[in-house]
Formats: sequence, C-alpha cells, structure tokens
Amino acid sequence: MLKYFSISLRVITAVVIATTTLFSQDFKTFIPKNLVKIYEKGTRSYDGKPGPNYWINHTDYKIQAEVFPKDHIVNGHAQITYYNESPDTLKQIVFRLYQDIMKKGNARDFPANEKDLTDGVKIDTLNIGGESVPFKDQSRVYRSGTNFIIRNLSKPIAPKSNINIEISWSVTIPKESRVRMGAYNDSTLCVSYWYPQVAVYDDVDGWDRINYGGDVEFYNDINNYDFEITVPKNYLVWATGVYQNLEKVVKPEIFSRYKEALESDGVVRIVGEDDLKNGTTLGGDKVTWKIKAEHVPDISFATSNGYIWDGISAIVDEKGSRVLTDAVYPPKQKAFENVAGYAKATVETLSKNLPGVPYPYPKMTVFSGDQTYGGGMEIPMMCNNGVYPTKEGQAGVTMHEIAHTYFPFFMGINERKYAWMDEGWATFFTSAQLKELEPAADEYTDNIKSVGRQMGNEWDTPAITPSVAARGPMYGFTEYPKASVSYFMLKDAIGDELFKKCLQEYINRWNGKHPLPWDFFFTFNDVSKQDLSWFWNPWYFDHGYPDLVVKDVKIKKGGATITVEKIGNVPVSIDLIATYADSTTENIHKSVSVWKTGSIEEKIELKTNKEIKNVAVNEKLVPDTDNKNNMFEVKKN
Ligand SMILES: [Zn+2]
Repeated sequence: MLKYFSISLRVITAVVIATTTLFSQDFKTFIPKNLVKIYEKGTRSYDGKPGPNYWINHTDYKIQAEVFPKDHIVNGHAQITYYNESPDTLKQIVFRLYQDIMKKGNARDFPANEKDLTDGVKIDTLNIGGESVPFKDQSRVYRSGTNFIIRNLSKPIAPKSNINIEISWSVTIPKESRVRMGAYNDSTLCVSYWYPQVAVYDDVDGWDRINYGGDVEFYNDINNYDFEITVPKNYLVWATGVYQNLEKVVKPEIFSRYKEALESDGVVRIVGEDDLKNGTTLGGDKVTWKIKAEHVPDISFATSNGYIWDGISAIVDEKGSRVLTDAVYPPKQKAFENVAGYAKATVETLSKNLPGVPYPYPKMTVFSGDQTYGGGMEIPMMCNNGVYPTKEGQAGVTMHEIAHTYFPFFMGINERKYAWMDEGWATFFTSAQLKELEPAADEYTDNIKSVGRQMGNEWDTPAITPSVAARGPMYGFTEYPKASVSYFMLKDAIGDELFKKCLQEYINRWNGKHPLPWDFFFTFNDVSKQDLSWFWNPWYFDHGYPDLVVKDVKIKKGGATITVEKIGNVPVSIDLIATYADSTTENIHKSVSVWKTGSIEEKIELKTNKEIKNVAVNEKLVPDTDNKNNMFEVKKN
C-alpha cells in the first residue's frame, strides 16, 4: 500500500552516542529464541536456503459469487480444499473474514463511517470434511476480530492430507470507509478482502491469528483459484487471473480489441465511451464471468458499467513473452490516461533491471479507485490506485503497487510482522527506477531526507519490531523510506553487481515460500561470502541514526586530505561535495563498506590543483541527522 502520513517529527537536539564497541565485527546477528528452534528443526537453514524439512500449506478455491452493485453486496459460495503439508495434525482451522473489520464493536486502526458498520460477514452454511458445522455453537466456533476459528474438528487434518470445506457467505462492500477496496459509486466496486480465506499455518507461529485492523496487510499462502463472478448486464469485470470465457461475455468488437492489446506495443482502447453507451456484454440480464488464477496468494476483482478500458502489452523476457498491462478508469479522467503505458514500462523495467526477474504473472490491471485522497493498493495481478495531481505522483503510485508483485506476492512475505520486507522493496524499486517513467521524479532524495530527519526519534523503532506493533507514524517511516534507504546502502556496501546477484538468489530461493528476515540476511551473507552483521545490526536491530562529520580538510601539495568522522551508529556511504574557489564542484564517493571494521574515522585523499573553498556532506545522497557538522570551511592562510 502507499499512504501518506503527515509526520512532523523533527530532530530538535542531536544527542551524540558513542557506542562503537557494540558494532564491532564480532557482534553476530541476533536470532530470537523461538526462531533458533525453527532453524534447528531444519525447516530453514543458517546458509539462507529453505531447509531440507521446509513445507508450506496451500489451498484450492472454487468460488461462485454474485454482485448486487446498487446494494453493495456480494454473495458467494466456495468449495475449498486445504492441503496440510506440515508434520502436525491440525485439530482446528482458522478462517479470515476480513470485512468483519466493519462489524460493530470490532477494533479498527482507523475511525469508520457509521454508515459502513455491519453485523459482520454473514455465514449461511458451513460444511467441513463432509460434516455440517453448527457455526453458532460457541464450543465449536470462535469468532474474534476478523478471525473465524473452527475448533475441535471432528476429523482432524492429518499431516500430508487435505480436507474439503464448503461455505456460503454474504458480504457488504463499504461505501464510505474504503480500506483498500470498496464501492466507489453505485455501479463501480473494487472487491478485495472479500471471501472466507484459510489463514496461514506456518513453521514459525502455527496458525496466524493476527487481527486485520486495517493497517497491516498480507500474509497468505500460494493458492489456486477457479472462480465465477455474476454481474448485471453491461458490467465489465477485471480480476486477478486469466479470463476463461471472455469471448462469450463481451461483444465481438471488444473481444477483438482485447486480443489486439495482448500483442500491442501501443495503447489500444478496448472499451471506449461509445461502447459504454451501446452496451458491452452479450447474453441476458445477468452475465457470468469465468476466471482462473494459479499460484497466487489472493484474488480480487473490480466491476463497473461506466469505466473505459485501455490495454497494451509488456515484454518480460528475452524470448519476447508478453503480458497484458491495462488501465480502467472513468471517462475523461486525465490522470489515468498515461497509466496503461506506465504499467507497461514498470513491468518491463522490473523484469529487466531491478530486481531483474521476469514478471511472474500473466497480466496487470490498474483500477482507478480513490479520486480524492490518492494512495494505492497492491493486489496480485491488479492494483487499486488513487488519482494524483502530478504525473510524477501518478507514475510513482503505479510503479510502487506493481513492484509489490515481487514482495509480498511472489515472495510470500508476512507483512503483518515484517512489512519492511515488502514496502521497503516496493519503495526501493520505485526510487531506483521511477525516472524511466517520469524524468522529473525524485523519490530517492525525498526518502534520504526523511531518513535524516526521522531516524533516531522516539517513534523510530528498529525494523525488526513486528509491524503489527509499529503502527501509525512508526509504520509509515520504518517500513517505507527507512527500509528503502537501507537497501540502497546495502547495494552501495557490497556493490551493484553483487547486490543484484544476492537479491536474485534470494528471490530464486524463496519465491512461493515464506521467508523470514533471517532468511534474507543469511542469503545475502551466503551469496556475498561476507558476514554482513556489521550492516544488519545497526540498520535493522538497533536504535540509532546516521551522522557523518567533515572533521578536517588538510590542504597539501596537489590536493587535500579530508577526514570524515562517523558519529552516528548507522553506517552510510560517504558522499561529499568539494566546492572550489572558482565555484566549480566535485563529487566524492566512498562505499558504506569503509565502516565494516568498526572504524569511526576515514581519510580521503582528494587530488586537485584548484583552491578548495569547502567540503560538505551531500545531503541529497546521504541521510544525515545533524546537518550543522556537515560542512568544513577551508581557512585561507
Ligand atoms: Zn506498498
């Protein structure tokens, strides 16, 4: 998700902390006690690879749902097969009823509009393992927050076995308090977080029971979905997955323009205003759209009878494989006219440059949601994005949400505990590559400045703090700009090429699984053949901040010796600007790795015949807490 907080935290006084002994190379990365047991059991290993005993559970869903747009209601029926790959016998099963977030009396991370409050997701029937479950019997069923827990299963789920579940439900889609989804008007809905979903059962915590309060987002297994969405005639449907019967539900001219877009290098208007006037669908008063999505963590869909549809295709590998990148939005909404093109460019740069792994899904649809407040929400193969006043803002949200394809979706990150492992990467990929979409964009400098300003404040908690405990300003800072800047510093510390190799190997090892922070740390250690704990500890485990001082510039024949002191505990690159008497400047760079031995002082030889006026920390490239000690003025003799 991309959201904006009005954070007005500022460093008023910088307190110098001299704690260098803590960061010597002997200090290894801390592993929590409960996780040591996991590594010892062999589901994970200290070299960063999934262990020989690694397992992940998964689910197949067959869903039939009908949407009643004017009432903002979706009724559904699902046949679910849940596969227990774990060595444990499961005596209970946990479902998530996300829209219980709107149930009267439930806890939320934000105030909800009263008009959206409900009595909760309505369950009509529930059958587990062939047995009808009395879901109102509290000795069997426990409903708490957004969790729906069926206890004392009459047929416990044995290791390496599966269980069939059938459930019918009805959910009201919020109209005012739209968290990531909702009804945008009486004929346009983005339906996410909408079906009873089996929670994750993993090797770390067993059943995930973290309540969905609105702040923390995904933690899902990798599943298969075969689903049907019934809507009134002339409603189009866009969803996670591949259409199975598009030719039978839309008029032939629309179908042929869709086919053209699949292979097109230019934007094709698949549905325009004239189509909306003349009607778009075939058949009677109700139309059933069939869709399949394989190997994905979740599904959503959007429907409207008033949105236009642009499509273009992106090339994702050297063989020339193409995926559809499309945008759906209200007619005449200027901000979205470039979005299909932004989506194409994003998918291509993510595939080719960073992370440099071919986009792993067959499509990406960008839906235009919030027209007032901006923001955006990732969904597998989709995003639900707001409208921005600037091109850079619109391009930025497009790239950010599409970048989430890799983290948390392709890599099954537990965002409820480790949001920096997905928001940080989405922010990093965007900061690194947004200029390719809009040359004037500069997210990088914004994030560098934000880290300089906020790191080390009371609200800045170590990234390793479980995200569910770090809400509000902590969440908005730690998981986004701070994590992104840490990845840039890591890239600088080990070099671009090795960084990319480590990142790609991390993705290669852990896609379709649930990596922990330590799987990330250990993979980078393993592939780089370096113990990077000197970097992991200050950036992810400790309180503190970065602060460099230009301490001295000693002029000598043919140049100068510049002394830089590191007084903050967090290691950053040395980026300086030398300004000469003739007003020209020179950039000086030294890698973050100069600090890996625990030293706190670095001498840099500058070769020049010019007269040096001053040397300063480049505040656009390095986060720095105290800018009063950043410049050294050379005194004339
Ligand atoms: Zn995000």
